[in-house]
Amino acid sequence: MERLVRSCYKKKSGYVFAKKAEDIAREYGMTRIARLASNENPEPLSPAALAAATDALATVNRYPDEKASVLMSALRATYAHEHFVTGVGMDGVIETILRTLVEPGEKVVISTPTFSFYALAAMGQGAETATVPREADFSVDPRKLLKEAKDAKVTVLCSPNNPTGNATPVPVVEEILEGIEGLLFLDNAYVEFSGIDYLPLMRKHENLVLGRTLSKVYALAGLRVGYAFTPRWLPPWYNRAGTPFAVNAVSMAAAAAALSDRERAERYIAQVKRWRKRFMDEVKYPVMPSDANFVMIDVSPHKSDEIVEELARKGVVVRSCRSFTGLEDHYIRASIGADWENELFLEVINSL
Ligand SMILES: *Cc1c(COP(=O)(O)O)cnc(C)c1O
Repeated sequence: MERLVRSCYKKKSGYVFAKKAEDIAREYGMTRIARLASNENPEPLSPAALAAATDALATVNRYPDEKASVLMSALRATYAHEHFVTGVGMDGVIETILRTLVEPGEKVVISTPTFSFYALAAMGQGAETATVPREADFSVDPRKLLKEAKDAKVTVLCSPNNPTGNATPVPVVEEILEGIEGLLFLDNAYVEFSGIDYLPLMRKHENLVLGRTLSKVYALAGLRVGYAFTPRWLPPWYNRAGTPFAVNAVSMAAAAAALSDRERAERYIAQVKRWRKRFMDEVKYPVMPSDANFVMIDVSPHKSDEIVEELARKGVVVRSCRSFTGLEDHYIRASIGADWENELFLEVINSL
């Protein structure tokens, strides 16, 4: 019966998941593994978020609030902005935005190397995808991007970029916004770690969406909550195109409480900045400058998979960047974790 499956899914492989720490632990007979492969917050969710989620569990015989009011109020209280959309992770937001805007055959432009889900989601909508490679230092040349993106329906730029770690300066983003006819989806999954504020651009540009997630700084990866700052015109259409009741009540309650726990977020951001510097200074291989909660490391002359395997053997799980299209095969990506995980990572990588 597989003949029924769409040919695009038969031609391309799907999302590449990080190897499960549990599997590696079993393979090498280890009890403690440093999980530095998925850019998660190593701390458990905030007690306030846990309490809110637990309370919300008692309501799940009912469908959740279709307006996501609790989460919307928390977002409006946290940020100086009015218009938001929510989804099942930022991945869900990306998919719904493309579903809302992109007709089959229309162009989606992606600045690469980057997060792989954009291309998969665009393919799912039957879009024509074009990729524009970054420069040798992984910066974005706006003129080069605009050559391809000018007439695209949607352009996707990740800043700070996964996996390279660098952010694109505000004036460069503005130049792109002014040169395109379509929409710019700026993926800000890691922006809290950067000190860059793209929000003022929203006041001047009607074609900008800032994608955000609760999975990284707010420690809710497992509850799957994402949102985006949008222009005024987008939410009604997004809600028409999207899956009804996408974000569940437990996730919404936890997300609203997590957003309100600013102190916890700040503590983690400080931890990331402290360790980012130590990784830069102490890893014996070249570390790319990072504005995120991870760093990309050039392990040449070794191959990425080799180093990832060596690290896993010693109890440290990091991400090989081999699967990122447009990146040479000698980079690994290491998240900043808890103190003991970072110490172990430094010790092991420098001993290879
Ligand atoms: C983690 C990540 C996301 C998605 O996160 P969700 O868990 O789906 O909210 C989106 N973009 C980038 C670049 C990411 O690294």
